[in-house]
Formats: sequence, C-alpha cells, structure tokens
Amino acid sequence: MNYYSTEHKSPSVSLRDAVVKGLAPDRGLYMPEQIHEIPKAFFNNMAEMPLQDIAYVVANTLFGDDIDSETLKNIVKETLNFDIPLKKVEGNKYVLELFHGPTLAFKDVGARFMARLLGHFNNTDKGKEVNVLVATSGDTGSAVANGFLGVPGVRVFVLYPKGKVSPIQEAQFTTLGNNITALEVSGTFDDCQSLVKGAFLDRELNDHMMLTSANSINIARFLPQMFYYFYAYAQLAAMGEPLDNIVVAVPSGNFGNITSALIGKKMGLPIKRFIAANNRNDIFYQYLLSGKYEPKASIATIANAMDVGAPSNFARILDLYGNSHEMIKSEISGATYTDDEISRTLAETYSRTGYLLDPHGAVAYRSLLDGLKPDEIGIALETAHPAKFKDTVENIIGEKITVPKKLAAFTHGVKSTVKLSPTMACFKKFLLSQ
Ligand SMILES: *Cc1c(COP(=O)(O)O)cnc(C)c1O
Repeated sequence: MNYYSTEHKSPSVSLRDAVVKGLAPDRGLYMPEQIHEIPKAFFNNMAEMPLQDIAYVVANTLFGDDIDSETLKNIVKETLNFDIPLKKVEGNKYVLELFHGPTLAFKDVGARFMARLLGHFNNTDKGKEVNVLVATSGDTGSAVANGFLGVPGVRVFVLYPKGKVSPIQEAQFTTLGNNITALEVSGTFDDCQSLVKGAFLDRELNDHMMLTSANSINIARFLPQMFYYFYAYAQLAAMGEPLDNIVVAVPSGNFGNITSALIGKKMGLPIKRFIAANNRNDIFYQYLLSGKYEPKASIATIANAMDVGAPSNFARILDLYGNSHEMIKSEISGATYTDDEISRTLAETYSRTGYLLDPHGAVAYRSLLDGLKPDEIGIALETAHPAKFKDTVENIIGEKITVPKKLAAFTHGVKSTVKLSPTMACFKKFLLSQ
C-alpha cells in the first residue's frame, strides 16, 4: 500500500519511503491510501486474545501488503514485550496503563515498533545507514533512544536542552552508548527542534547521510499506537462490560496518539466518541469551538509533554474528516485544564480512590469526571508513570512516592554527551564529521 501526503503536492510513496523520509517533501504528513476494515468476527473473539495477537491482526491490516507475516509477527512481539493493563478506578471509569515499557511512557510502543521496522528495511537494503535525529524536551528522547538501542544499521542523535530536562530523563538517553549519541545543546527545546528541522532541509547534509525523524509525524511511530486501543476494548469485553458506549479520553499534545485511535475507529474499532484533553495549550479545544486553527507559542505546564502550541498531527485529523469541522466535532469533544485543576484532580483522585495518576493522565481523567454520562464506560489513557514526574507529584500529594527499579536503574549509568552550541553551523559540522 502507498502513503499520500496531506499536502497532496508530492507523489505517494511506499511504506519504506514513508518511514525513511518521515515528512513528505511538500511538508505534508503521510497517510495510508486505504484504511481497511477488520472483519466483525475479530471483535467478537477479542476477549480471549492476548495483546500480541490482537496487535498482530491490526498490524497485518495496516502493513500486511508490505511486510511478510513472519517478520511482522516478530516486530510486534518484540515491540510489545510488556503488558498494557486496563484498570478500574471507580464506577464506570477506567485507566489504560501505558507505562509498563522500558522508559515508562506510551511512546515506547511507537518508538520500539519504528526501530524494528527500520531495522528490517535496513536488513533488506544493506549498506545504507539510517540516522535518526530527534529533539526532545524529555520523554521522546528516552523512548526513541531506548527503542533504537542496538538496532543494526541505525544511529540515533538525541538533541536536548542542557539543564532543562529532569536528571532521570537525561539519564535515560545519555548513558546508553552503542548506537545512541546524546547532543547536549546550550539552548532551549525550540533551538533543538530548529536544528533538527534545519538538518532535514540541508541538501549537503542529506547527500552526506540518510536522515530521518522519529517523532509522531513518522507513520511507523504513529500508526502502531492504535494497537492498545483495540486491546483496551478486548479487556473491557473480558470484564463483561457493555461495549456500545465506550468513551476514550486522550491527553493530547502533538495529537499523534489520538489520531491513531481515530484511524483505528475507521478500521472498525467500536469506540463511541473521543475526548481530546488539553492542558492550557488548548489550540484544538479552541478549534472545536470556533472552527479556526490558530497555533500559538507553547506555555509551560505541569503536564509538560503536552506543551505544544502547533500540534503537528492536526493536518492528519483534518484530512481524515475531509476538513469538516462538523464531522470532527461529532466524534471528538475537547477539554482544557489549568495546572491548578490538574493538581487538584491528581490529589483528589488519589485520596478518593487510592489511584495515583500522573499529571498527563490526570488531564484525561478530569475530562471523564466532567464529561462522562452514567450510561457510558470511560477510559482515560495513563500515558506515563507518575514517578517520571516525581517532584511534581510528591508536591501535589504531600507524600513520597516509590520509583520503580526499572526507572531508578537508569541513574546508575555513566553520562556521556557531545556538547553543542545552538547554531546550525556547529550542528552541521558535527554531522558532516560522522
Ligand atoms: C507525548 C506525550 C503526550 C502527548 O501525546 P501526543 O501523541 O503528542 O498527543 C501525553 N502524555 C505523555 C506522558 C507524553 O509523553
């Protein structure tokens, strides 16, 4: 199957090219030319199926034309070597815990899948090393670095703003070595992002080395995120819950996560409606109200992985609904919360139910508390483990929390970085020397 650009000004490409290029040459985002429906029987039998089997059926529907089934099965199996449990918090409200992977955030799923898919393409096309550039304000860098660690034929360069990520986040991508290089930029996250963008646009650099991006503009990172929505449905079925009024609340920043679920729904996943839950960076919420998309500079909040002022996957949502504001509104509602509201939700949910949300999950959970009807079943996505935001969460609940061993283990490694000043000239010189 081919993939077209949402800008429609550059040709459709193969799966391989869409993954290796990341962004289309016309600056559009790639979308699958066909969205196949999965037969109804699959949904009737899902309750009995493990995560990896469900994910394989979905992956085969998405990528089966282009990857042989043995390879795809292995990629899915290696990607999902951890569970994604659905837990009841109270009444008709559940959370889907997406933080049981190696870096304790949902981005592990997409990053691990993409790494293995790139590794596969490299095996069949030897000799061309792929270089992944990723700018991070914390979470993306760790998921991508850990996902790609040791994948043959792929090198990863993580650019991050010196002194502006938490020590635990920094340890997750600066202590790995091997094919992972951390670039410590004496600037801001925006500087890192513009260096990466600059590199993709630089002809000389692109002639020198094959460059790609591993954020959610890349279809190989973005589409596999739908696996766990299907698995959440299966878990509700196994619990014997009614299945015709499911509402999913997604804490959203760049909107990759929710967009993958919208495509999942087109493939037949019976979710009634979605809530796109925002912090104060509420560009999408405002769009739902006014029909106007007005990107802004981002505002710093306690749910910092959602501090996005120009959500890159918005173009995909428009494309999916033929630019119809009415259609978009009929399937997705919005919510927006201040830091104070997020903190209160986290603290009150903890004292009322004993369940400890992280600040991002709290945004989604709050939207269920405010917007779920009694006859609906609500699922809030818990996108990261609360211990990743230890100081913030401890301040809110006034208690110490335990850091999982897996997370603490990262801090025992030895930090190694390349220091970089935030200019294109320095970055280019560095890359040309590689
Ligand atoms: C990246 C991230 C989000 C936002 O996801 P998008 O796909 O960008 O909308 C939410 N929560 C956490 C913890 C994240 O790391």
